[in-house]
Amino acid sequence: MTTGGGGGAGARGRLGRAGPGGSGRHFLLTFVCTGNTCRSPMAEAIARRIAARAGIATIRVGSAGTDAWPGQPASEGALRAASGAGLDLTSHRATLLTAEVVAASDLLLCMGRSHLRRVEELGGAQTARLLTEMAGAAGDVPDPFGGNQGVYDAAFAEIERMVRGVLTGADSARGRDAADKPAVYAVLGDPVAHSLSPTIHNAAFRAAGRNAHYIARRVSAGECGAVLRELALVGGGGNVTVPHKERVLPFLDRCTEAVEATGACNTFWAEGGHVWGDNTDVAGFLHSWKRLTADAGDDLDVLLLGAGGAARAVAFALLQCEEVGRIRVRNRSPERARALLRHFADPRIASAPPPPACAPDIVVNATSVGMNGRRSPLDLAALRQAPARVADLVYAPVLTPFCNQARTMGASAVDGREMLVRQAEAAYARWFGEPPPKGAMSRALD
Ligand code: NAP
Repeated sequence: MTTGGGGGAGARGRLGRAGPGGSGRHFLLTFVCTGNTCRSPMAEAIARRIAARAGIATIRVGSAGTDAWPGQPASEGALRAASGAGLDLTSHRATLLTAEVVAASDLLLCMGRSHLRRVEELGGAQTARLLTEMAGAAGDVPDPFGGNQGVYDAAFAEIERMVRGVLTGADSARGRDAADKPAVYAVLGDPVAHSLSPTIHNAAFRAAGRNAHYIARRVSAGECGAVLRELALVGGGGNVTVPHKERVLPFLDRCTEAVEATGACNTFWAEGGHVWGDNTDVAGFLHSWKRLTADAGDDLDVLLLGAGGAARAVAFALLQCEEVGRIRVRNRSPERARALLRHFADPRIASAPPPPACAPDIVVNATSVGMNGRRSPLDLAALRQAPARVADLVYAPVLTPFCNQARTMGASAVDGREMLVRQAEAAYARWFGEPPPKGAMSRALD
């Protein structure tokens, strides 16, 4: 197998990337056919040219064959079809598809079902797809082998149309056969069964008359990056939730300031061939915060519970608020709290003292405690002085024990529903360039 700019799967670690954090990670896309002399070398060359022209620096491309004779050159028909389109396949040499090639690839696009089965046998069940499926069509990519030059030229044009679609998410690339196929959006996490994102996004899609569908997809740590890129590059997008928000960063080509600042991503999509990430939890939390603190005064002392991805979004949001004087962080694992403090390195954020020494104006729960409706992350009665206000990011069930206790003690409390809707509205605006129909998402929660 050859890879752009590097010479084989073993070169992956040496290749740089342009994404956030500059971690050196890139995405290896491998095309698979039978002999690696016709369809997959054409697809490889096409993909490399599209990626180069679109400035997609994070993708490397290769190809291999399930029954290849290593070292075979590209077929005459493939050479001529490629040459007619300005691509040179003369230096191509066939590579056999092996378990190592499969393991090294982030996504393997197969020309036919027999190739897909072979990749799966070699351990690539999670990373293999049919090229046609990814491009929104059906069936195998027709094999030009043995045909006249016209057959090769037609195969080349068809493969180019599909590969362009996969890499750029362009509408034309979704394919004639799939003009009516809905775009797929998903929330990626583990667990995700509790997520209300499908409910609110599908309500907004329906209200706006969009040909799109939103699902909850449970993905492991190893899968989340590849699934994210695949969804984005075929013209969809989605959200990331617990526990993958930080893990997906190396798989983004571009990101917003909110992602840079928090080190967490909850929203992704593709634009101009690049996979983008945003953290709309920041904007979502700010909406809830402004409502909760409209008449709360200045120099507010905030106790922040939690140090995960959501807590980072809250901390970043609070640092933008002039009315916030101090943020004190308390977390089950002290090391993670320290990592958050180091990340922001701001004199306004420090560790919280034990509860009897705390007298916060506002407490924000950014832990996941309360999702099951049974526990609270903190006994508010243990604080030196009861807070006047609390905000809970947890939204299932609606009234958490934390909010319940706060209200019983006379405090104002907002639960996670408003933030959920606001972060979802901001995500929708990223995907479609306009806000969702007013009220569609909040009505879906009633
Ligand atoms: P995360 O990165 O997995 O962090 C989880 C946090 O909860 C960590 O601080 C963790 O402490 C703490 N925690 C978990 N179990 C605990 C326990 N039994 N006792 C004490 N602390 C515990 O998750 P996340 O992305 O930050 O999300 C946190 C919560 O916010 C989730 O419930 C999520 O659904 C919610 N959320 C809501 C919205 C919204 O729109 N309303 C948006 C984002 C997130 P350790 O570090 O010690 O593990």
